[in-house]
Amino acid sequence: MSTTRYIFVTGGVTSSLGKGIISASLAKLLQSRGFSVTIQKLDPYLNVDPGTLNPYEHGECYVTEDGAETDLDLGHYERFLNVPTSQANNVTTGSIYKSVIEKERRGDFLGKTVQIIPHITDEIKRRIKVLGSKNKFDFVITEIGGTVGDIESLPYIESVRQLKWEMGANVLVIHLTLVPYLSASGELKTKPTQHSVKTLLEAGVQPDILVLRTEKELSSDIRAKVALFCNVSTNAVIQSIDVCTIYEVPIKMFEEELDKRVLEKFGLPTTKAPELKVWKDFLNKYKHPERTVDIALIGKYVELQDAYKSIAESFVHAGAVNNCKVNLQWIHSENINKKNYEEILSKVKGIVVAPGFGHRGIEGKILAVKYARENNIPFFGICLGMQCAVIEFARNVLGFEKANSTEMDEKTAYPVIDIMEEQKTILEKGGTMRLGAYPCRLEKGSKSFTAYGQELIEERHRHRYEFNDKYLKDFTASGMVPMGINPETNLVEIVEIPKHKWFVGVQFHPEYRSTVTQPHPLFINFIKATLD
Ligand code: GLN
Repeated sequence: MSTTRYIFVTGGVTSSLGKGIISASLAKLLQSRGFSVTIQKLDPYLNVDPGTLNPYEHGECYVTEDGAETDLDLGHYERFLNVPTSQANNVTTGSIYKSVIEKERRGDFLGKTVQIIPHITDEIKRRIKVLGSKNKFDFVITEIGGTVGDIESLPYIESVRQLKWEMGANVLVIHLTLVPYLSASGELKTKPTQHSVKTLLEAGVQPDILVLRTEKELSSDIRAKVALFCNVSTNAVIQSIDVCTIYEVPIKMFEEELDKRVLEKFGLPTTKAPELKVWKDFLNKYKHPERTVDIALIGKYVELQDAYKSIAESFVHAGAVNNCKVNLQWIHSENINKKNYEEILSKVKGIVVAPGFGHRGIEGKILAVKYARENNIPFFGICLGMQCAVIEFARNVLGFEKANSTEMDEKTAYPVIDIMEEQKTILEKGGTMRLGAYPCRLEKGSKSFTAYGQELIEERHRHRYEFNDKYLKDFTASGMVPMGINPETNLVEIVEIPKHKWFVGVQFHPEYRSTVTQPHPLFINFIKATLD
């Protein structure tokens, strides 16, 4: 296709309706029909990126190959499409204002009053269009964070209005709303949808398609009523009913003909059906597991499971490959202590220690590693989880009393994890960690090599501390061995205990690379080890 088409996904009534999943599902369907698609998220907050946000506020921070710290929805986009996203796929109001103000200081607008319209909206439009023009995607789907009517969203909605005006038939707006069910009267209510579309219309935007989130089936009467009140054709009122897994949504959207409507509205042929075999095979395996396996996920944000979204999804993918359902037991590391850790952990078949920052909950994580190591329970340490494995080994095997990471104890006598050299002079917190994809060379014969089946891999990172090389010999001599090394800097990326059934700690974040069609080899092999 020579022209890029732009699809906007807005939301109304409430947040958390699943705009990200609807966007990803539509993208999947279009991709399965042979089109190239990318998805972008516009976030209306003032942080330049979500990297400085506490996971309690906004869930996991997802990291792209090119090292952008982004919204967790980008993780869904990659998991659905199996195509890497980049810096350009996540825009925040903070980043828009930052570049406009930088241009103003440079003198780019000399003599002019800098205003929301046109300067901020021009920058928003530029960030949207750049994705299409640079990579020549057939479709750019732009998800607008927040809910219409929010003060923060206004410049984005205004930009959509302008783009619709400028590009006409190459722009389409999908609005996602809620049709609540009132159990007292046994009715589905359309009024919130009518109001939300009205708010969009006040901003000058007429949606082309409505996706209605609902707990119950929508009758044709309800669809007709919504169509009449909101100026859309009845067949463009799409039902999005609650399902047991997000991976079911593309199938539901196909049944509701969301992709067909989109293509029709763009005047594109709909004859070629989407190729969804691989997707359906995965779904079938996921829905009909032969057995279940209990895995402990030790972290400190377990009250909010979105904080470990990519890890949880990686286990969904890896479980399906192994024909099993992975039952994640979310265990708060602050609730684990010397008295109870054996009892708590004796119930699981594998232990994962999650990434994280700061000293809170660290001792519980270290106890979990100790249990896994001493009892030959498959262990998977991710980033801070790997660092905890190193600390535990130093304390309890090497006898390095109070060994620690200098992140937790600056004055420790045994800094087995230490700040990276290039990080020592960095004072600013935003976007300054070691971020993005770096190469790693695997040791032949290691568990990691067996999993990946190749020597040179690339994985994504987000950290400031690293294994302290000074202690390499002590560790290796006593049985904890570096099995993955960055070929350029010699940074230790993977440690393993070869004598153990499956004990792998990785400095990187494998979870960012697991997708439905390419589940991650380390997650697959970890689960395999727990089933043996
Ligand atoms: N806090 C550790 C570091 O900065 C680990 C980071 C992480 O788990 N992502 O090195």
